[in-house]
Amino acid sequence: MSILEKYTEEPKVAYFSMEIGLKDDIPTYSGGLGILAGDTIKSASDLHVPLVAVSLIYRNGYFTQDLDDTGYQLERPVIWDPAKYMTLAPEKISVQIEGRTVYVQGWIYFVESLRGGNLPVIFLDCNIPENSEQDRELTNYLYGGGKEYRIKQELILGVGGVRMLKALGFTIKRYHMNEGHASFLTLELLHEFKKDIESVWDESLVWNYDIVKERCIFTTHTPVEAGHDKFSYELYNQVAGDYFPEKVLRSLAGHEELNMTLLALNLSYYINGVAKKHGEVSQNMFPGYRINSITNGIHSYTWTCNSFKRLYDKYLPGWANEPEILVRAETLPSEEIWNAHMEAKRKLIDHVNSVSGLNMRHDILTIGFARRFATYKRANLLFSDLDRLVNITAGKVQFIFAGKAHPKDEGGKQLIKNIISYSKELKDKVKLFFLKNYKMDVALDLVSGVDIWLNNPLRPLEASGTSGMKACHNGVPNFSVLDGWWIEGHIENVTGWSIGPEAKEIMPDENMNRIDAEDLYNKLEKVIIPTYYNDRNKWIWIMQNTIGKNAYYFNTHRMMRRYITEAYIR
Ligand SMILES: *Cc1c(COP(=O)(O)O)cnc(C)c1O
Repeated sequence: MSILEKYTEEPKVAYFSMEIGLKDDIPTYSGGLGILAGDTIKSASDLHVPLVAVSLIYRNGYFTQDLDDTGYQLERPVIWDPAKYMTLAPEKISVQIEGRTVYVQGWIYFVESLRGGNLPVIFLDCNIPENSEQDRELTNYLYGGGKEYRIKQELILGVGGVRMLKALGFTIKRYHMNEGHASFLTLELLHEFKKDIESVWDESLVWNYDIVKERCIFTTHTPVEAGHDKFSYELYNQVAGDYFPEKVLRSLAGHEELNMTLLALNLSYYINGVAKKHGEVSQNMFPGYRINSITNGIHSYTWTCNSFKRLYDKYLPGWANEPEILVRAETLPSEEIWNAHMEAKRKLIDHVNSVSGLNMRHDILTIGFARRFATYKRANLLFSDLDRLVNITAGKVQFIFAGKAHPKDEGGKQLIKNIISYSKELKDKVKLFFLKNYKMDVALDLVSGVDIWLNNPLRPLEASGTSGMKACHNGVPNFSVLDGWWIEGHIENVTGWSIGPEAKEIMPDENMNRIDAEDLYNKLEKVIIPTYYNDRNKWIWIMQNTIGKNAYYFNTHRMMRRYITEAYIR
């Protein structure tokens, strides 16, 4: 009897994602995309949504971040054992790669909900004895290797994923592609629903696009070019052989190059961006397709620290599975909000002091900045004018930074190095610490333990952003550029503060750095620091608003319900 027997009775939505971040010690994610996938799955489990998720196992994880003496990032593999958390299903399927038969097995992980939900996630694995040494490596690294490694992984995910679901006995009524990495699944479905007709004049008539399209949903996640995978047809042919006729593929995925985003766009009936603004930006990028938007969220229970969990349980019971209840945050007593915050802040500051010897203080305004060190996120904006920064913040503000750069992103690695050297340069004036190895547990300590969450990406490149939503679940206000979700969450001086001008369609521009930095310094000096030190009541009222006006909405329970009513059920 299959371990999935009782999970395959009901037809399911299949959620495909190149990365999924469910918990700290399952290192199968690199950043926001993976955490969002994990949070989505957790909400689906809480809400008893009939869903099964598919990803790859990455036996060497993403990486553990270390820094050398100069602050240059070093990457070490994460050693972990899937068997500690999951069960290997005996079913095997295969995918043809470079003419070889590559066998794939699936690790089954169950996302257990406190509400009794129990949702299966399948992590595909090629590291099995039937495969050659080379092919056993295929599911070892997340975003490792070059284009060739990548297209192979995407074939395993898309083609292998559909085959595995079938082998395990699932009936799938919808396929949700979380980003274009999974869009080869559409080709496998085209094969599955191929019309049984002989000797037609036009051989392309055998492909039943409509029936595939009816089943597919595509969420695009970034306007950044590198987020949209493209492969040459030469590479496709070399790797996939005659899996799917090139001529037809070119009509679906682009004539010049195989564009995974285009493939998904052409074969999905519902397409969406991840915030209202991102929906508009994507609509401009892909004219001719109807792009909707469903704003991202985070899993409330996962991203609320213990002291706030206790506070919500006491005054707003039921909040975790019905985050809308947080709209009544006004009923939380100010003093208890402050105490809950200080408990989290002490935990963070004590930890930072124990690893840094910096002697940061509990009563100093603490600003946090942590995310992937992609250059568009501009981790160095704060340091545009060092003298000014010192003048404004010396003795009044301390900073904690964290984040990993992609192993091949030299620009991102330079940014980390810069931050480390600023921290040394400012040492006697402004305390600044870079916390190594940003991952889920570090993220929760940071978003709950700082006083302000800083985010200053270059507009309009932050599709949504989710770490700011985590902050507001812990009563921490955002200080952020008006991009992504913050356009929808921001009310000036009520839920937090903006940086720079209103959200218009502004393309990357050197001037933006100057304008944004100027506003950042000004607000910090004239509004934020004075409010923090001189008007504690107002400050706590803003904290309350982050919960009642932001957290109640920016969660994956609300997001999942929207996917169900707008995309999954039609
Ligand atoms: C939430 C989270 C992210 C995403 O943060 P953004 O603000 O969306 O960039 C990345 N990494 C980790 C570890 C996270 O917890």
